[in-house]
Amino acid sequence: MGEYINVVETFGCDVFNDSVMQARLPKKIYKELKKTIEEGKELSMEIADVVAHEMKEWAIEKGATHYSHWFQPLTGVTAEKHDAFITAPMDNGKVLMSFSGKELIKGEPDASSFPSGGLRATFEARGYTAWDCTSPAFVRHDAAGGTLCIPTAFCSYTGEALDQKTPLLRSMEAINTQALRLLRLFGNTTSKKVTPSVGAEQEYFLIDKEKWLQRKDLIYTGRTLFGAMPPKGQEMDDHYFGSIRQRISAYMKEVNEECWKLGIPAKTQHNEVAPAQHELAPIYAPVNIAADQNQMMMRILKKVASRHGMRCVLHEKPFAGVNGSGKHNNWSLTTDDGINLLDPGKTPHENIQFLLVLTCILKAVDEHADLLRESAADVGNDQRLGGHEAPPAVISVFLGEQLEDVLEQLVSTGTATHSKKGSKLETGVKTLPDFMKDATDRNRTSPFAFTGNKFEFRMVGSRDSISACNVVLNTITAEVFKEVCDRLEKAPDFELAVHDLIKEYATDHQKIVFNGNGYAPEWEKEAKRRGLPILPSMVDAIPALTTEKAVKLFESFDVFSRAELESRAEIKYEIYSKAINIEAKTMIDMATKQIIPAVIRYTTVLGESINTVKTAGEGLIDVSVQLDLLKKASKLLKAANSAMSKLSKLVEKIPEYAEGRDRAVFCREKMVPAMEALREPVDELEMIVDKEMWPMPSYGDLVFEV
Ligand code: ADP
Ligand code: MG
Repeated sequence: MGEYINVVETFGCDVFNDSVMQARLPKKIYKELKKTIEEGKELSMEIADVVAHEMKEWAIEKGATHYSHWFQPLTGVTAEKHDAFITAPMDNGKVLMSFSGKELIKGEPDASSFPSGGLRATFEARGYTAWDCTSPAFVRHDAAGGTLCIPTAFCSYTGEALDQKTPLLRSMEAINTQALRLLRLFGNTTSKKVTPSVGAEQEYFLIDKEKWLQRKDLIYTGRTLFGAMPPKGQEMDDHYFGSIRQRISAYMKEVNEECWKLGIPAKTQHNEVAPAQHELAPIYAPVNIAADQNQMMMRILKKVASRHGMRCVLHEKPFAGVNGSGKHNNWSLTTDDGINLLDPGKTPHENIQFLLVLTCILKAVDEHADLLRESAADVGNDQRLGGHEAPPAVISVFLGEQLEDVLEQLVSTGTATHSKKGSKLETGVKTLPDFMKDATDRNRTSPFAFTGNKFEFRMVGSRDSISACNVVLNTITAEVFKEVCDRLEKAPDFELAVHDLIKEYATDHQKIVFNGNGYAPEWEKEAKRRGLPILPSMVDAIPALTTEKAVKLFESFDVFSRAELESRAEIKYEIYSKAINIEAKTMIDMATKQIIPAVIRYTTVLGESINTVKTAGEGLIDVSVQLDLLKKASKLLKAANSAMSKLSKLVEKIPEYAEGRDRAVFCREKMVPAMEALREPVDELEMIVDKEMWPMPSYGDLVFEV
């Protein structure tokens, strides 16, 4: 800490990136590997052996003793199994360091502890990891030493995806194929590849570690299950704020340095709306790399926090009543030669292409709004979405005034003949690049906003992987692109056909466009009127995965099979029930062992004080205030106790419900309200019980005093 680092030199120093490969691999091998990375050509074992050897030598120089296939199972966190590079001891008792092509390409982690949603039971017990050479390997340093981490996909024996990455890579192929077809129709003969580019803005909270340790709810569930709001600003004072900034800045500096070493272009950092809340955004990258880097970044945020005596809390809603955390997923489509399909462009010709792409996305989002909503479904996000600080649980698209106007024109001009093109359409569009940038605070309420040359999906929860939403975005867009290409390739008059399509899509799907205030209660009514899906909770959203519409979509692009979709739905129900179960048990534990005893102590002290005062004053002193307080506390204590026994009974009932949807619905409909019912009297008690006696740090302590 404190010393100066040379960013240019440090950036990517722990990554086996292109320049390392170029420098270390024999030319022929490098070329073959590049073909695999760029064109998806199969990699021979011969080449893999050479790459593995060089990778190992490089990693050892960086201090690595182990290698690990690093993957993203459906648990929401990353997983890895570490193997040392050493061979079996030789006759002389020494070992060698080795790493073969086979070990690089394929791993066989014990998969039985990862969720498979029934897939493995049907197919095969083992799981395999396969090297994703499009995302570079890296050396990670921690207390366990240096580890060469190899990004991999995780599949079952018969190839069913058991992870986040496999479908993401498949969806990238789908969008690449269809987007290239579209570009060719518009006369582009040079671009070779279209890749979704993603920049994910990550929000997080920092909490003092000592205080965090005193909250079982934070420890076990990642969020507070009890907690009354402090009177605003009560515990903030300027002097203290000065030192907060010091501590946080030192933290951020180290986070950046760790990110840069791993080649993560951490760029923007700032404090967020809530006190103790911050944000970190890297520069965008191809989506599979962005997804890997986001996982690495979350790990760095946590690791560095503990070095600074803090805990990084990534839960979507750690504190009721305080802003939650999300992950803004900025998404665009970029060609290998630098064209952004979502850039409005300057020439009318390109504008037509842009308008077609835009209306395709409107159609895609409108037709699969339920899937996009589902992609952000997460237990913690249930508390965040619709909470007047995050987008509501209804999908809509924000286009901004100018684009919305263009859309209006398209819809209202009857037949969009090409004569319109010269005048209205062109003038309407030509002004776009100048006016596109929307005022950020105007559209903050939209879940899916066009922001100049990209769409920003703001629904994703802060802990979640960004893979799921990008799988959906890529595939639904590929579907409409395909329909468009099928029609345009056959059209006798291309120009006319394009205009007809733009108008048709704009008209049919205008209902998904909403530029107003997404937080307003009227919006939900309006959304209902428009027939948009309203799916408030994760449990409401999961069925979207297995509708016939979804199965047809994903199967036709080989992104998911029906079995994979069903397994994913199953896993999500399980995750939901488990999380609620843990939360309920934690609440009961805290109430029984900490809160109720504390309130009893408090009421006892109050009672004793009333008696003492009465005696001392020979019955002449008014003790009605103490008495009222005692009555109030006792009443709330009783309410808390009865809410707790109700919750306990429900917890006992959980096993009666079949694992999967039944259990999740029970948790959502019965347990969640029972948890809220317990929280209410406890939070009221916290407001009246002597702070010295309250058994855990308050919101004020946690949020304002980092
Ligand atoms: P804003 O602050 O308006 O949300 P920024 O320019 O700060 O936008 O970008 C936010 C995130 O979006 C960053 O991660 C950035 O790299 C990313 N981003 C910028 N342009 C694009 C693009 N064309 N495609 C995908 N992501 C992008
Ligand atoms: Mg943003």
